[in-house]
Amino acid sequence: MTDDIILSTRDLKRYFNLGGGMLAKTGTIRAVDGVTLDIRRGETFAIVGESGCGKSTLARLLMRLLQPTSGEVTFDGWDIATLNGRALSALRRDMQFIFQDPFSSLNPRMSVGRLIAEPLETHFPQMTAADRREKVAGLLRQVGLRPEHAGRYPHEFSGGQRQRIGIARALASGPKLIIGDEPVSALDVSVQAQVINLLGDLRDDLGLTLIIIAHDLAVIRHMSDRVAVMYLGEIVEIGTADEIFETPRHPYTLALLSAIPVAEHGRETTRIALIGETPSPAAPPPGCRFHTRCRFAKDRCRTDVTPLRSVKNEHRAACHLFEEIARTREETIAPAVAKRQGAAEARFALYRSAIEGRGVRPQDQTQHDREETIQ
Ligand code: SF4
Repeated sequence: MTDDIILSTRDLKRYFNLGGGMLAKTGTIRAVDGVTLDIRRGETFAIVGESGCGKSTLARLLMRLLQPTSGEVTFDGWDIATLNGRALSALRRDMQFIFQDPFSSLNPRMSVGRLIAEPLETHFPQMTAADRREKVAGLLRQVGLRPEHAGRYPHEFSGGQRQRIGIARALASGPKLIIGDEPVSALDVSVQAQVINLLGDLRDDLGLTLIIIAHDLAVIRHMSDRVAVMYLGEIVEIGTADEIFETPRHPYTLALLSAIPVAEHGRETTRIALIGETPSPAAPPPGCRFHTRCRFAKDRCRTDVTPLRSVKNEHRAACHLFEEIARTREETIAPAVAKRQGAAEARFALYRSAIEGRGVRPQDQTQHDREETIQ
């Protein structure tokens, strides 16, 4: 593991056994099935895929909130499966989690000040009460809230503000890495922009590494350096955000990109439809796991497994036929994907305008967004 790699996994697997009563199904869910990754210090790494693809299970494995069935997770040179006692406590300090729903992750009976002070008490027990109060005030400022908000309770804040409180709480221990599981999906678009931009600023100012789990490709495009696409517990494509969005090679990535909503009333838009339902992770198809839904599938796809292969530089895709599909794509698929990429671009522009300090136009704001104005 080189110095610039903060977190890595090798052939990481997590299976869950089904089974129990007479009517219960039996079998083994292969939620994460052989994931190998290297996350670089200071980057924003996104993991994307449909619901049930294993991305949230992977996030919990990375934080040792779940034990792997097999494989390794190494954080800053430590095999995290072997940590206990003080070393495990140090891991909890260095890796923090931001939840999708900030409201359910914040104890409604605790004031914001207590919520943010709690991790300080756990990780820095020697800190005096006065130092803690000062630190809480500093963290509130850092996330765009005011020190006097420490005396209020979570229900007094809007969704975006509650997510800021969640971020302040995550920052309290001074982490090196933050994992966000759908950190903005519960927020309106312009509030998303504010929270995304806050995370980007904190990453740059504090030298944080971010891992973002998300299904919204516009969010991912805007904030990520590199992207891994997951399908049925496996990574099927990985590369820089530019490579994944501009020259996607795996048919599943193409389908995801083509599914970005386009706001054109009453007009037909081409979409690369996925055939059928996602197969059960308890019985993944043999060969390429995507073959039951792939419009390009050939006979060998039904029998031959698909390891990740190099496309160019570090861009890799798990498809036997990506060279052939790339040629087809230029003629038939690229226009459909490009249209969706155009729709995603409109969202990126909104985020960019927030970054550049021009803010969001009042007519773009919903009532919910307006609540985001901090009192
Ligand atoms: Fe489709 Fe075959 Fe490629 Fe799998 S290997 S994604 S089935 S073309």
